[in-house]
Amino acid sequence: MELTSRSSGAGVADRPARPERRRESAVSGLPALEPEWAREVRADPGLLATLAHGLQGPFHVLFPDQFAANLAAFRNALTTAGVAGQVYYGKKANKSGCWLPVCAVAGAGVDVASVPELVHALSRGVRGEDMVVTGAAKSDELLWLAARHGCLLAIDALDELARVVGLVRTATGSAPAPRLLLRVLPEVNPASRFGLTSQETDRALGVCARERLDLRGFSFHLNGYDPAPRAEMAYRLVGRCLEARRLGLAADSVDIGGGFACAYVSESDWTHFTENYRADWFHADKTFTHFYPYHQSPIGADMLSAILHDRHDRSESLSELLIRTRTRLLLEPGRALLDGAGFTVFPVQGYKERDGYGIVTVDGLSGSVSEQWKGSEYLPDPILWPASRARTSPVRACVGGASCMDYDMLTWRKVAFDRRPEAGDLLVYPNTAGYQMDKNETEFHQLRLPRRVVLTRHDRGFRWRLDDARQVHRTGEA
Ligand SMILES: *Cc1c(COP(=O)(O)O)cnc(C)c1O
Repeated sequence: MELTSRSSGAGVADRPARPERRRESAVSGLPALEPEWAREVRADPGLLATLAHGLQGPFHVLFPDQFAANLAAFRNALTTAGVAGQVYYGKKANKSGCWLPVCAVAGAGVDVASVPELVHALSRGVRGEDMVVTGAAKSDELLWLAARHGCLLAIDALDELARVVGLVRTATGSAPAPRLLLRVLPEVNPASRFGLTSQETDRALGVCARERLDLRGFSFHLNGYDPAPRAEMAYRLVGRCLEARRLGLAADSVDIGGGFACAYVSESDWTHFTENYRADWFHADKTFTHFYPYHQSPIGADMLSAILHDRHDRSESLSELLIRTRTRLLLEPGRALLDGAGFTVFPVQGYKERDGYGIVTVDGLSGSVSEQWKGSEYLPDPILWPASRARTSPVRACVGGASCMDYDMLTWRKVAFDRRPEAGDLLVYPNTAGYQMDKNETEFHQLRLPRRVVLTRHDRGFRWRLDDARQVHRTGEA
């Protein structure tokens, strides 16, 4: 991936004083790091216009080939380290159906947390044995269905384990004994409501041994993106596996959850932004308490390798420990598998001037860019399409949604556009497949949710079809 830089240094040359210079150059943008396919789609003179015309409204563009490449990189990191294991796609990060056959074909799994997610994955070819069911206390229906299909169940609480024991006792042969993981509460994350404390884990182990449950190991899911605490937790949970094996349990796996980092923008642009931004860079002088870390390193499969090679002050790396103890490593990346695998397109409906900057209004709602919904901002620059219309002078503009809410803003920041956006243009939000697309979408104002378009390569261009994400549990409109 290469950086497409723009507008750095404009108007700087005639301002010698350093603080001034800093101010001026500080207003440069946050251009997204983009995969080649996304630029190819925008370079195609007809494709986006045809889709916008046909779909009449905002739409998400999905590219499963990128997901496949990301997945292959994760699986390759395991193979290269000589570690046995499985990658489960954290399905909540994007509900589209198009990723599921990619997992099935690659022999990867899916991490689900609800009956509809489980059914959707089954319907697109993912086998129950290739699923892990995570999440908080689960419904009886979900536990039963997971057992029926041979899914791995991550147990979150002692009473949930008791319900599984009840299920096994009353199943009378209609369901195989479920394969279990015990999800532990990380000590570095004590405020989390998920997982078993150390004492609860002791008790759960006792229950598993007494009831002869099929305990396969332990899991956790950490906030943050640091490899070190993940390696540390995995280390300790290998110890728990050995303890469980002494009790006669299989305990052959450690699941390190998700939370693999991505880089949306370059390091220099990110540093520049975080060191220089001010309230007046944003519409209505909006201030924020936090931003997602839009640049990180290491990312994706490289972060997995960093975890595997971590040895801190120990005599062996995590991968060496896993190999020596014949322990499998399971992981549940969501966002990182979707990195670069999709973008979102909003038709521009209008533009107005306000206090020296512009306000673009688009067909669509800020709920379709989830970060906006969390009192924060999705910061990679939206891209105006087509790039080639007759030029007006460059403008700075924020982007509002089509609703009657003043706070329905897709972008509060005054983004630089090299011409004035106008009705008929499209605004492309890059790299939105991981969480931005569907987490907080609404049909507010009775507006239809954005359609989902799946692109595949064909000849020297692309072919498209609609995704099936909404067909599982919603009938009526497709
Ligand atoms: C959300 C979640 C994931 C995926 O997290 P990412 O940050 O998208 O990688 C994996 N496992 C569990 C238990 C989760 O809750």
